[in-house]
Amino acid sequence: MGIGADYKVGAPLNYTAANHTTAEERVDGHPSLAPGELLQYGVGMSMLPNREIHLKSRPQGLPKESDFELVETEMAPLQDGKFLVRNAWISVDPYMRGRMKDSASYVEPFQLGAAMEGGCVGQVIASKQEGFSEGDWVLGNLGWRECWTSDGTGVSKVDPQAAPLNNYLGVLGMTGMTAYVGLFGIGNLKEGENVFVSAASGAVGSMVGQIARLKNCRVVGSAGSAEKIQWLKSEAGFDEAFNYHEGNDISLTLKKMFPDGIDLYFDNVGGDHLAGAIDNMNQAGRIVCCGMISGYNDETPQPGPSNLFKIIGKRLRIEGFIVRDHPDQQEAFLRDMSAWIQSGEIKWEETIVEGLENAPQAFIRLFSSDKLGKVLVKI
Ligand code: NDP
Repeated sequence: MGIGADYKVGAPLNYTAANHTTAEERVDGHPSLAPGELLQYGVGMSMLPNREIHLKSRPQGLPKESDFELVETEMAPLQDGKFLVRNAWISVDPYMRGRMKDSASYVEPFQLGAAMEGGCVGQVIASKQEGFSEGDWVLGNLGWRECWTSDGTGVSKVDPQAAPLNNYLGVLGMTGMTAYVGLFGIGNLKEGENVFVSAASGAVGSMVGQIARLKNCRVVGSAGSAEKIQWLKSEAGFDEAFNYHEGNDISLTLKKMFPDGIDLYFDNVGGDHLAGAIDNMNQAGRIVCCGMISGYNDETPQPGPSNLFKIIGKRLRIEGFIVRDHPDQQEAFLRDMSAWIQSGEIKWEETIVEGLENAPQAFIRLFSSDKLGKVLVKI
């Protein structure tokens, strides 16, 4: 999906350390090509050296670094009608775990021995395609590699003056838009409701909670470490947050946190979080099924919640969605999110891992509590 297409932010967004911090480092700018670097990269010679991450074996359970392989390749000479991009940022996302399985889903499985795909931002370093010029920054879906070529299909330009480039993969990109679509397009969020979100300190969850707070909702989030709970309450403005590793009865915890019940549950986790939410939903409540990460590495499916019958008595609506099906909401998302960022009302964290060779390790961290906010790989 081309989040960056038709980007409507006219003026640069004034980011401050108050709303934009990273775990590994502060990111203010973007990498740019030094004069002559293009020659150094070999454009004009017959072949351009490249590095890619391939899927070596289909992971069993939690992926291991040995399931991936860093492969040195060469780019063929650039053909007419194509342009060449060097990636600067790549995104690692939980949905990629599903593509590592050899089973049909809403996206094709990754092929063994081939470079994987995923969101990325890079700079055009050579072009034989009208509409894309050397120096342009673009958002594409050929991450997990240093360089790629395209005819422009599915690629959109992004403006490095309007926002730091990495933000087109997070707060202003796919994960920010997932929160927006899920809350408004699917969940029909209303002012003042009681909202629960799981994986609340993550890329999607942290946006969900803060957007709901902007709509005067009472927001409770769950996350997996004391540091995250602290961030949710003191920085992101959640009303309450709890560490789901402490105590083993999420239903009971939610009962205490929501004395007046839950109107909207934004599910990123599934499993016991979903079951606990169903127990505590109000009449005609809505459950937005965004992701169920607690089961992504399971070799055998988790048993379903044993309390599904409550959906009937409580007249619940449970609806799943895929963000890329909703490009019609992109313009509203960019308008609203840009305004919230500019007014300092949205804060976010990024965990940045340096080096393409470390992308597998960055991906694996998504299945632990050992990161905060959006995980990105800087190349
Ligand atoms: P996050 O940044 O939230 O990273 C994943 C987090 O999930 C981890 O940091 C961890 O945080 C939590 N987690 C991992 N394993 C478990 C587990 N077994 N039980 C409970 N929590 C766990 O990822 P995103 O924000 O990118 O994605 C969040 C969810 O949204 C995912 O399920 C993803 O698949 C889904 N998604 C869906 C989209 C759609 O179109 N439907 C689009 C984008 C994302 P901690 O344990 O500390 O809480």
